[in-house]
Amino acid sequence: MLARRVAEQTADLRAANEELARAARYKDEFLAAMSHELRTPLNTIIGMSDVMLEGVYGVLNEKQHRAMANLQDSGYHLLALINDILDVAKLAAGQMRLHREAIDVDSLCNSCLAMVKKAADDKRVALVYTRDERIERMVADLRRMRQIIVNLLSNAVKYTNEEGSIGLEVRCNEEGDTVIITVWDTGIGIAPDDMKRLFKPFVQVDSSLTRRYEGTGLGLTIVQSLAALHGGSVRLESEVGAGSRFVVAVPWIHPPGEVASKSWNPDGDSDFANSVRTDSPLLLVAEDNESSIEMLTGYFELAGYRVQVARNGLAAVQLAASLKPDVIVMDIQMPELDGHQAMQRIRREDTSRRVPIIAVTALAMPGDAERSRAAGADEYLTKPVSLRLLRKHIEHLLTLATTTTRDQVI
Ligand code: ADP
Repeated sequence: MLARRVAEQTADLRAANEELARAARYKDEFLAAMSHELRTPLNTIIGMSDVMLEGVYGVLNEKQHRAMANLQDSGYHLLALINDILDVAKLAAGQMRLHREAIDVDSLCNSCLAMVKKAADDKRVALVYTRDERIERMVADLRRMRQIIVNLLSNAVKYTNEEGSIGLEVRCNEEGDTVIITVWDTGIGIAPDDMKRLFKPFVQVDSSLTRRYEGTGLGLTIVQSLAALHGGSVRLESEVGAGSRFVVAVPWIHPPGEVASKSWNPDGDSDFANSVRTDSPLLLVAEDNESSIEMLTGYFELAGYRVQVARNGLAAVQLAASLKPDVIVMDIQMPELDGHQAMQRIRREDTSRRVPIIAVTALAMPGDAERSRAAGADEYLTKPVSLRLLRKHIEHLLTLATTTTRDQVI
């Protein structure tokens, strides 16, 4: 009797567990799908405005340029919001993974300060940066550390009145085992009752419809969760009218070797070659979305490449074999064969040479980069990707390819 009840309950529990696992999987799939669906049209908006701003379809007059720059700014703003919402969802689902690497603390801080400099200048708010000279390098997730600091700095600028000051300070604790990053401001400050609520998602001190400051109330939640993922915490000291100090403390992990070489700068610029020649590099674009095709073709032809298009994975495999392109830009979600399958086939069939492949995808879920690399991609970029950045990656891979060939000849 008892044994039967235990067996029944075990079966019930197993069924409930399976149901939960299925629900969790649906949520992951939903997140992945949303991320794709939202980023694809945004990719076109941002990319097309890039094309227009670069004068590909003719030089813009001042008004057109301003309107287009505005359009692009709004695109980036929307992208930032979508990214925040997806980050909160990923963090809540325990799906956020850190990619730890050796970080140069000065470059991290300077890149963060650069991102808020314009907003601060516009309000005549002074930016102050101080660093304990002992803390030159640390091991952490560069992108996520930048996200923590930029979020806090942006808030500091946003909630500080004209002519105030804000600061970024890096020091270590007495024991020398914790990096303490403080973002302070001389702004409006926060009342004690509000301090506890702020780190919850979607909370803003002033949530009235007529509120003065824009935002989603997600920034501090993300900051706190990312600090926690690094094994750290965030503390807040503030006084209404006097300003605030957000203090992030993370364990100081020392890098085993030197920081990776920075000789290649993907954000640097170079001029367009501006003429397509028969010996220009041949770019195979595997992409099924017509507006993305138009954008990539227009841009890269102007940059001096010959461009061929494959509108599905199967065509990509066939064209890779018959045209022998110098580089392939591969979308992942495509009809017939998807990008992963296409890359696997290309790698299997093309054993004589290793054509560089850059996977460009609107999927931005954990594991996507690894899956693309495992399928054969040399680089992995998520949409919306700046065309200039994509071009830098292509140029870099082409340089690597020619150096390797030359080394082999010698
Ligand atoms: P958002 O800025 O998008 O509203 P956050 O999560 O970054 O969302 O911040 C939540 C709230 O905390 C803000 O709406 C604001 O009321 C308050 N806050 C954050 N940083 C500061 C600051 N430096 N000074 C005063 N208030 C702040």
